[in-house]
Amino acid sequence: MLESHRLCHIHKQPVGRQNPCPQCVSDMESRPPREDMTAEDRMREMRSLAGPLEVDFQLLHARIEELVGRPVWTHEMAAWDELVQESAQADRRAPDLVDIVSKIPPHIGTYIVQVEKGDEDR
Ligand SMILES: [Zn+2]
Repeated sequence: MLESHRLCHIHKQPVGRQNPCPQCVSDMESRPPREDMTAEDRMREMRSLAGPLEVDFQLLHARIEELVGRPVWTHEMAAWDELVQESAQADRRAPDLVDIVSKIPPHIGTYIVQVEKGDEDR
């Protein structure tokens, strides 16, 4: 007969064999947002997530996305070390017009056309 309980590998407390560890779930749900963590904190937490799954996968997936700072496909988790490194990167903002134009080589002429509201039909 199969065991009805197992021990959480972190808390060493018995939990239902098919169930998440309630303490691990509570811990994960109360962790700080990415912006309140240092790069080292994020990498340390990412490394701690490898190992036996003690929470529902959806909760783990959401936490990984929070630490990495973007949506993460499940197949990307196969390259775990890259995600750990990425979690340490500073937040990226979407490039603005100045960022984009500054990447155009200077020998290429650049015109910026600004359409005033109401002039769209001219
Ligand atoms: Zn636990």
